[in-house]
Amino acid sequence: MDNNTNNYLADFPALDQQVNDERLAYLDNAATVQRPRQVIKALTDFYEQDNANVHRGVHTLAERATKDYEEARKKVQQFINAQSSDEIIFTKGCTDGLNLVASTYGEQNIQSGDEIVISIMEHHSNLIPWQQLAKRKNAILKYIELTPDGELDLTDAKNKITDKTKIVAVTHASNVLGTVTPLKELAAIAHQHGAIIVGDGAQAVPHMAIDVTDLDVDFYAFSGHKMMSPMGIGVLYGKASLLREMPPYQFGGEMINDVHRDQSTWADIPFKFEAGTQNIAGAVGLGAAIDYLNNIGMDNVQKKEQELVDYVLPQLIAIPDVQVYGPQSPAKHTGVIAFNINGLHPHDVATALDMDGVAVRAGHHCAQPLMEDLGVTATARASFYFYNTKNDADQLIKAIKETKEFFNIGTI
Ligand code: PMP
Repeated sequence: MDNNTNNYLADFPALDQQVNDERLAYLDNAATVQRPRQVIKALTDFYEQDNANVHRGVHTLAERATKDYEEARKKVQQFINAQSSDEIIFTKGCTDGLNLVASTYGEQNIQSGDEIVISIMEHHSNLIPWQQLAKRKNAILKYIELTPDGELDLTDAKNKITDKTKIVAVTHASNVLGTVTPLKELAAIAHQHGAIIVGDGAQAVPHMAIDVTDLDVDFYAFSGHKMMSPMGIGVLYGKASLLREMPPYQFGGEMINDVHRDQSTWADIPFKFEAGTQNIAGAVGLGAAIDYLNNIGMDNVQKKEQELVDYVLPQLIAIPDVQVYGPQSPAKHTGVIAFNINGLHPHDVATALDMDGVAVRAGHHCAQPLMEDLGVTATARASFYFYNTKNDADQLIKAIKETKEFFNIGTI
């Protein structure tokens, strides 16, 4: 595949535009990615032909919509290699899935004095639900620290996870440091101590082949919009044996078996956790996004992104007065690259880059405890997806050099 004329670009209408009279280099993929025509078409087709509410109806459109929705669930199951499609719960997104686990499994199983172990690199979505659960239950929240390189410190994890630990909740890939965590090893450690493990797959599932059975995680949450589906749809994978024992998350239509004046019984999984009308079109769009990724092959997606990291990271590090966070070696770094220019606020950097057509994010990236750890309040962040090209990388490097020149920062 030629890196400058990426074969996939033609599928992404949003990438083919100018901003501020410059070619768009969209490098905000860790926040959300762009959608290919195939996903947009799947949505249009659904609304034009099959739109109806699922499960309840016997009419033809309701049956078609139900088939579409359940086929999407099956696609997700196969995509992450879950044992059964009953283990796939559709959610609003990763945040929703993680809150679901904390509010149901956590509420049921955490008691005073128990320990919950997370890492210091967690996104607020995989931090606050556990922090608040610990507060409610008078439990103890512990943080696994980082190595000097910005990787999860496995030795520290072995010290922090003990027989008192009931839940370990760790991201699979950092949305700031560009590191992948040893989730499989962490799962084994958690299980040795009788704890369960929750994986945050928001930055992993869109970028690499995921096998929840091999990882042996108990729960694993991710968002569709970071892997080309519509917004507002996500997935919580959970082991069936655990899901069956958990209380419902929300109450209402669809999630019940029988309702009487004084009592109700719950539907079996996954419906027990899908109260009310779901984002059916979103699920259909997620199914189409999975088809698109399967067509490329997740190994190729990862390879393509690695080629871009190999190309851009050393160039970025070589610019004087630019500080890159996380591992400095491309082999250890994903396509998420957080950086600062000495003396400039990251918001000013992002605004200046936007003038050159380069879309990056600036802020604390919903990881304030990590920012504290890094000794900064915010960073800029460029994040790549398989559809990016060396042209995008060149435009980023050029724009950073021009920004330095504009603000008169050091040598260029
Ligand atoms: N975890 C990580 C690592 C993330 O990067 C994100 C999104 N930035 C989330 C969780 C939350 O995802 P969402 O906002 O789609 O629920």
